[in-house]
Amino acid sequence: MIVSQTFEGRRYAVLGLARSGLATVRALAKSGAHVVAWDSDLAARDRAAGINGVIVHDIARLNLEGAAGLVVSPGVPLNTHPLAARARDAGVPVIGDIELFAQARAGLPPHRVVGITGTNGKSTTTALVHHILDTAGVPAAMGGNIGLPILEQAPLPAGGVYVLELSSYQVDLTQTLDCDVAVLLNVTPDHLDRYDGFEAYAASKARLFAMQSPAHDAVIGIGDAPSAAIARGLSARGEHLTKIAPGVCMDQSRWPALQGPHNAQNALAAIAVARALGVAEAAIDAGLESFAGLPHRMQTIGTRDGVAFVDDSKATNPESTAPALGAFARIHWIVGGKRKGDDLDACAPHFDRVVAAYTIGEAGPLFRDLLQGRVPAVSLAGDLATAVTQAAAAARPGETVLLSPACASFDQFRDYEDRGQAFRAAVEGLA
Ligand code: ADP
Repeated sequence: MIVSQTFEGRRYAVLGLARSGLATVRALAKSGAHVVAWDSDLAARDRAAGINGVIVHDIARLNLEGAAGLVVSPGVPLNTHPLAARARDAGVPVIGDIELFAQARAGLPPHRVVGITGTNGKSTTTALVHHILDTAGVPAAMGGNIGLPILEQAPLPAGGVYVLELSSYQVDLTQTLDCDVAVLLNVTPDHLDRYDGFEAYAASKARLFAMQSPAHDAVIGIGDAPSAAIARGLSARGEHLTKIAPGVCMDQSRWPALQGPHNAQNALAAIAVARALGVAEAAIDAGLESFAGLPHRMQTIGTRDGVAFVDDSKATNPESTAPALGAFARIHWIVGGKRKGDDLDACAPHFDRVVAAYTIGEAGPLFRDLLQGRVPAVSLAGDLATAVTQAAAAARPGETVLLSPACASFDQFRDYEDRGQAFRAAVEGLA
């Protein structure tokens, strides 16, 4: 656990007690802070109740005056939440656990921090950078959006590197994180319900660089206009700015877990980070070759009668589904869930690879209408199990059944992992 004298004797209110919120409460309490914790979910509140030095109390009815921070989980929609305005009125900073980590850094042994943001590819790139460092023998820890609360991690010895995956919400809740290397992979429309338009979403990503010292390194994928604009704004960094152009042709044959053009981008970003950190080329090569990939990202979970079943449940928007469609030749595509937009335009360039589509979830009817006439066959399957049964019955040897939903999962599942597991269970349950 990462603790800090900075927090000692100060008052914090912590809203949201899932994994990172709970880790925050523990780290603050262990540091000697006075913590008031709250979650609308009773079970979550109960988990915090037993922690020494923590008071569970509704923050909405708390006087925030004098608190050192209102610490909120990235899941709390700040644009609509009344507490954010109250905190602002009371002059209390609204922060997240990444900001607390930034404030705790001064007390940690000398180390460096890599921050990785973007709409798609964050987890893959974060895990890859961590793996390359590991391969090179550099002490490294992962944290942030990847599902590992950073304050829960053991402090690294001197020379260590903290690799943080940062969603734009986490960047919004961070004010003083000076990354030694900051990475922006791409910016495409996503999560627009939480921002006042695309510009605000893009601006939120740019803040990661605004927080950096100018002599620190920036790595930016310039495949979309907003990212390219952010890169142009950083041209004064000179050799400390690495731009990753789209469509670079490279030999990926020795990287089994990094196939497809999107993974070429992720690999190039990770290589730039490793170089900025001074990792030797041989260790970078070895890391790329031995990287095992992450579950639910274009993961082949089995082959049955010559048909491959691929779980890409993590593809929660059309932009992240597109590379998966581009990676296979004849596809039975399971698509749908809780949609984030009104179209599948980002996927359209690969529709010629789709043999049949099986639409599911809330988006099922709309996607059926969108795809009818544009792919050879469409079935409104409704739910995932039905889609798997229909796709497996229709698929011929050499074809691929691909779950790449282009949607969030919350209409029918707890999260994308739950959806991926349901896909695996349905495949394993096929007669
Ligand atoms: P994130 O953590 O940003 O959601 P992941 O690494 O988990 O990203 O990948 C999520 C999905 O996005 C994957 O299923 C993959 O198909 C797609 N993806 C990965 N990297 C990229 C990229 N650089 N550009 C576009 N799509 C990508």
